[in-house]
Amino acid sequence: MTKFDNLKIRFFFNSPVIIDRYTTIDSILIAQHFNNIMQAGQLKEFVMPTPDNIDFIDAKHGVFSGSIWYIDKSEIPIFKTQTITKTVNVKKYLKYTPGPDNINLGSGEFKAYMLNYETIFVESIYFYIRGNREKITELCSQVKNIGRKRHIGYGAVSGFEVKPAEDRSFMLTLNNPSKPLPVSSFPKASTGKIALYRPRPPYYLKTDKAPCYMPTSSLYERTSHFKAKQKPILVKNISSSKLACEAGSIKPDELPENPHHCAMCGTFAKHTVPISVLFRSKNFNDYPDIRGNYICKWCLAAKTAHGIRTFSGKCITETDIIPLSNKDKIKQYIKANKLDATPENFKDIFVRTLANQEIKPPYVITLKTMKNNEHIIWKATVGISTGIIPVQSGKETLYVDTELLKEAIEQTDTGTAPYLYLNNTEKRNHLPEEERRFFAKYDRAVLKMLSYIRRPEKKEEQKNAKKRRLKKTA
Ligand SMILES: [Zn+2]
Repeated sequence: MTKFDNLKIRFFFNSPVIIDRYTTIDSILIAQHFNNIMQAGQLKEFVMPTPDNIDFIDAKHGVFSGSIWYIDKSEIPIFKTQTITKTVNVKKYLKYTPGPDNINLGSGEFKAYMLNYETIFVESIYFYIRGNREKITELCSQVKNIGRKRHIGYGAVSGFEVKPAEDRSFMLTLNNPSKPLPVSSFPKASTGKIALYRPRPPYYLKTDKAPCYMPTSSLYERTSHFKAKQKPILVKNISSSKLACEAGSIKPDELPENPHHCAMCGTFAKHTVPISVLFRSKNFNDYPDIRGNYICKWCLAAKTAHGIRTFSGKCITETDIIPLSNKDKIKQYIKANKLDATPENFKDIFVRTLANQEIKPPYVITLKTMKNNEHIIWKATVGISTGIIPVQSGKETLYVDTELLKEAIEQTDTGTAPYLYLNNTEKRNHLPEEERRFFAKYDRAVLKMLSYIRRPEKKEEQKNAKKRRLKKTA
């Protein structure tokens, strides 16, 4: 199977999709392929996909071809926030990480909980890939659902198309990647948007992340001439827990030499302890988010009650821990640093600082999604450039495209963005077409950051809206 073609693959939907911005077509096809051989009984346990065992997709420097997804410019997607019960698949989980002896499905870490997902309703999405047309067409015909929450009907595929295309399966244009590409092997993808990302499937694993050039995150296919203001830190193995502990002067206990990947932060550590130490702690209920058998000393120190308080809802740099959620702490911070800010506009100033690329890498940003302090720090990805900013929002890592964020803020400041509807997907969908198009120019990560921006004329606008309402009722 050596004949490769450049292909454009399109999937049509008849239900909303929940899909990460950087999901690529190779991961969908490889998952389908392994699923098939698993069903046929030819595969008993998990095998790492590599160019040696996947011969129907082209690869360069060990990286599979296959772009992220895009929508047509004519498409106006409908967004909706859906609350879905998340249940933990205990059996699947225990396959990778040893668990406590008594597993209770009624309470604690394995209990089902509610999570909000943003769903997108579009007619179709498309991808680019280079590979064997026959085999890829066969696999596409077997894909029944795409994205997350497939088993409850999201992302139901109603049809597909495989067509010859230009070669855009690694790069859209000479300098613009169409998927995350490792900096070390793809020097031509030279945009300043660099993040720590796993360049090989399974992409969801935390191990072996590398500095990668990231594609522009707009839902429409879009190229960029972005230049980063600050130099990226091109490191491979950098633990968010370590960065945070050092910034917060938390000294970890020394551990015996036992080199392994850390099940919590995913980095390779020289000193680790078996994960069973976690089972003794009553306040740890994040087992479903860890994967592996050992943890590093930094994660062990960061997961204490003190560590959780210190590191959740913060922007952490090598020299500073900036509070982002606690008003009293923000007040103290403003006073201590003699800033021209109030707790009310602090997040606005912070997001503008990010957009202006004034944050110095490496850094970690954690946003709380619950009132209580959460274990976020070890789930977070360390930011290594000013072009793509990883923001850990509860369990989810959002990669914020700085170029798009800056553009969206400018539109908000000049009053051309439908700002008031940012947080209300229900209202968004009733906007005129032109305004709805605004939301598809950016992805969820950019819109989430934009929601912290205060619009100068907002008060005036609210007054006018009130006047209009009064007029109506009169
Ligand atoms: Zn760790």
